[in-house]
Amino acid sequence: MFGIGMTSARARARLVNKLAGQDLASTEVLEIMNEVPRHVFVDEAIAHRAYDDTVLPIGFQQTISQPTVVAMMSNAAAGVADRSKVLEIGTGCGYQTAILSRLFDEVFTIERIEPLHLRARRTLANLEITNVTFKFADGHEGWPEYGPYNAVIGTASAEDVPAELSDQVALNGRLVMPVNDPRFVGQSLVQWERTGTGYRKSDLCGVRFVPMLKGIEATS
Ligand code: SAH
Repeated sequence: MFGIGMTSARARARLVNKLAGQDLASTEVLEIMNEVPRHVFVDEAIAHRAYDDTVLPIGFQQTISQPTVVAMMSNAAAGVADRSKVLEIGTGCGYQTAILSRLFDEVFTIERIEPLHLRARRTLANLEITNVTFKFADGHEGWPEYGPYNAVIGTASAEDVPAELSDQVALNGRLVMPVNDPRFVGQSLVQWERTGTGYRKSDLCGVRFVPMLKGIEATS
């Protein structure tokens, strides 16, 4: 156990070193993960575990994604040639959102559970992140008003890549999200790319995410 204040930077560097050893992401992504504090996104009671490579609860039966998976998804998204705009479905605690805010000019993020949406907005404001636009809604429809997006990231799993979301991917853009796959206990992390002639789909790895659900959960 460690006091989170003084030693969190060291614990974070240790985690990022471990990720670097697994060759999961570019130096750029790893450097950003080394700078963005993960412990401020979770409850104080579990903050001492923030730099373990593990999912942690964030309330409302949801979880903060595992650092390994955040590294891979961020890396896949950052691989696009134009990094003007990214759309994220499933803000959760906002950790992935914060990483994306350093990789893209503008981030648009949607969350269906209002208290999570509100908390993420506060956490990112505290970190003085100003290039993120938040929406409390069901993300199945995406956010066509600001699209198309150079990258779309889904942090909850669906039966397949929703057409409404792939429709909002710009030419040479990418969509990365977990899709249910009988070959895995959980899902396959799918990368879908829009090409000049259609699209290209590939599997990055097996993952376990919470499901993408319909509708919203409002506070009152
Ligand atoms: N990247 C987030 C992951 C949170 S878990 C983090 O690290 O904190 C996935 C999130 O997706 C949950 O917060 C869940 O409420 C949200 N979600 C599930 N279905 C959704 C939908 N249809 N629209 C928007 N958000 C959704």
